[in-house]
Amino acid sequence: MAERADWREVLAQRRDPRHSNAEHRLILLGTAGGSNPKATRSGYANAVVVGDAAYLVDCGEGAHRQLWRAGLTLNPVRDPDRPAVRALFVTHLHADHVMDLANLLVGSWPPHVVDIYGPVPAGLPIPVFPPDAARPLAFPDAPTPGMRAVVDQVLRAFAYNINLRIADEGRTPVTESVRVHELDLGGGEIRGRDEASVAPDMEPVVVYPEDDHGVTVSAVLVQHAPVFPAFGFRFDTPHGSVVFSGDTGPCANVVRLAHGADILVHEVIDVELLARRLRQLPNYDAVRNHLASAHSTPEQVGGIATRAGVGTLVLSHLVPGDLDVTEAEWEARVAPCFAGEVVCGVDLDEFPLIR
Ligand SMILES: [Zn+2]
Repeated sequence: MAERADWREVLAQRRDPRHSNAEHRLILLGTAGGSNPKATRSGYANAVVVGDAAYLVDCGEGAHRQLWRAGLTLNPVRDPDRPAVRALFVTHLHADHVMDLANLLVGSWPPHVVDIYGPVPAGLPIPVFPPDAARPLAFPDAPTPGMRAVVDQVLRAFAYNINLRIADEGRTPVTESVRVHELDLGGGEIRGRDEASVAPDMEPVVVYPEDDHGVTVSAVLVQHAPVFPAFGFRFDTPHGSVVFSGDTGPCANVVRLAHGADILVHEVIDVELLARRLRQLPNYDAVRNHLASAHSTPEQVGGIATRAGVGTLVLSHLVPGDLDVTEAEWEARVAPCFAGEVVCGVDLDEFPLIR
């Protein structure tokens, strides 16, 4: 496909999202990576639905609207017939993974407790690229807020609105509906922020013990340097298992996490296409390698899925995520490296969990 095609043509040619009537299912709410606007895909977000409970993984731009379109809710008092979101798992604090937090919390106003699992504060230093560049530090008093501070500050930005709704409409204090759990799978001991140190070899750690729907969530650190921590998550349910790689370069921890899983949702990047756009940069090689190390090519993703022995490989967090590469092109590049089913995700794709 020619670059920069018209988005109407791209959408007209795109297949319809896969639909499933299964009670237990994976839903791709948004499949684009990056926080620039996209005409044809929402920002990265996913839902695992088990009966009347839903669990979100990341909430990029549009997640709030997409979960509504998918038939889910964050307000089971208002919408009792929809599966209700009980927890959100945040892989890392790049904006394209948390951009819709305000919409989820202030927009839907959950009356029940929603558990949010996400990174501890990264701390300093923030590595500079290239290393000899001089770069300013914004918000020097608190430059690396973790999940708790992110949620707190999002809610504080809407304090007047929240207080108005409580005083004027008798709503419950939404501030009491959010319970944050900061995850530090490095045991507080990882200080480096380079490729060699952010994702040491580890076994998956249970971060969400089995609940009343039989859902257990485990996590590993993944290779998304200089971001630390960045997680992959695995959902084990009585009906099947789903793994999310998060943003990562090829990572042995993801292979371990995804071992034998029914579905692996893995990020993917077309680094050559992006690189062609950057070729005029004086430090082109360094920029290309920097980009490539924190993300995975289609061929690498196929290799990871093969090593993990997963049933179905779903490509999401597509970069570039809009007009440049078709679903068939993404799938064709993975296929020689993975013998199982490969599906390049489309927003609102549903995959049944059947066991
Ligand atoms: Zn990222």
